[in-house]
Amino acid sequence: MKYLFGPVPSRRLGLSLGVDLVPYKVCSFDCLYCELGRTTSHTSERREYVPTRGVLDELRSCFGDSGFSCDYVTLSGSGEPTLHSGLADIVAGIKEITSRPLALLTNSSLLNDPEVRRAVQPVDVILPSLDAATPKAFQRLNRPVDSVRIESIISGLLALREEFSGKIWLEILFCRGINDSDAEIEALTKAIEDVRPDKIQLNTVVRPGAYREAQSVSLDFLQQVQRRWGERAEIIAPFSSSQLNHGQQDSLQQIIDLLQRRPCTVQDMAASCAMVPAEVVKFLDLLKKEGKVKESIHEGETFFVAG
Ligand code: SF4
Repeated sequence: MKYLFGPVPSRRLGLSLGVDLVPYKVCSFDCLYCELGRTTSHTSERREYVPTRGVLDELRSCFGDSGFSCDYVTLSGSGEPTLHSGLADIVAGIKEITSRPLALLTNSSLLNDPEVRRAVQPVDVILPSLDAATPKAFQRLNRPVDSVRIESIISGLLALREEFSGKIWLEILFCRGINDSDAEIEALTKAIEDVRPDKIQLNTVVRPGAYREAQSVSLDFLQQVQRRWGERAEIIAPFSSSQLNHGQQDSLQQIIDLLQRRPCTVQDMAASCAMVPAEVVKFLDLLKKEGKVKESIHEGETFFVAG
């Protein structure tokens, strides 16, 4: 499959069939913490980066197999999915192909565009990111293309809340020393009050990011923020590998076998195991948590080794 990956274990969506709408790594941001590595095509241009028909054909064939199952179909992958200009057709096509719930992971940068908001109306759950609510922290952490401002992101989220009847699970990823100050929490609190997400998902750096400045905050800090934001706020809990099916266990084992032979980057593993980087990252998450892999930095690049 060229455009689908998984189902992979997702901390938020159970078993998620990923739909990769842009090639590695097309994004309007270049986040310090990006687990996929540095952005190579930094753009806000909307294009048909992968063929709409090809994506829908793969989905049809996948759901044509009666033994296939997943908890969510998720628009995500190797960059920012809303950059795909055929988003409306893809969303509508998925809804015709399957009744499985559809999720969208987005960095929120294009939600200010009414065409994008119209395209995502049929989605069941949108998981937009809002890591910072002040220009300084936003620029430092998310490193957007020049045309994207934090004010337009917040207004896009507000418009989404008004127009969208599905669930909004807002993700906020904290990096130590960047968006964890009292002033930043205050600004985020105000944005959250306005956007009224159904859930607020608190996260921090759990895998090596694209840049070394991306450092995690403590669990204690996340718990303080969770208490402040109340019942809707949750700290995203890791998934366990015992919940994987046979195919996923095989993929996990493929990665372990490779790492026992040589240290690899996420890109090396994706190429050797015929997976997309986002899929490799999900499996690495489990392996790290279970102490089966370690990471090491060599000449600024993150390598993984069997632990
Ligand atoms: S974390 Fe998401 S938004 Fe940020 S650079 Fe990576 S793919 Fe883009």
